[in-house]
Amino acid sequence: MQIGIDFDGTCVTHEYPEIGKDIGAIPVLKELIKNGHQLILFTMRSDREVKTNFGAYREYFLSAAVTWFKENNIPLYGIQTNPEQRLWTDSPKAYANLYIDDAALGCPLIVPENSNERPYADWETIKKMLKEKGLI
Ligand SMILES: [Mg+2]
Repeated sequence: MQIGIDFDGTCVTHEYPEIGKDIGAIPVLKELIKNGHQLILFTMRSDREVKTNFGAYREYFLSAAVTWFKENNIPLYGIQTNPEQRLWTDSPKAYANLYIDDAALGCPLIVPENSNERPYADWETIKKMLKEKGLI
């Protein structure tokens, strides 16, 4: 299966543009890979040039997320797009069979006690759901 995966609030806590804290996604993502699934990073993060009155600089916020996957030995099949979809669509939506995203309806979340922090994906429950679907 091809699985679209969000980053902030899904793989790590919400600390954009920093990389958030570990929330238990890594072993579950590795299990998905072990079971032959392909991960497509699908995030609002981007690398871009920012122009100011004092000059231009580049932000590497998407690259930072890609590095997180590399450092954790989790291969990505696609970044922001499914490499196969250009053969049949120009749509900006990354094609996947399943999406894991903290903003998705039905995504189990952990709500931090500190109400200043945003809810993030509950990987213990996601793992159970993936097992129930026979994906891991
Ligand atoms: Mg998110």
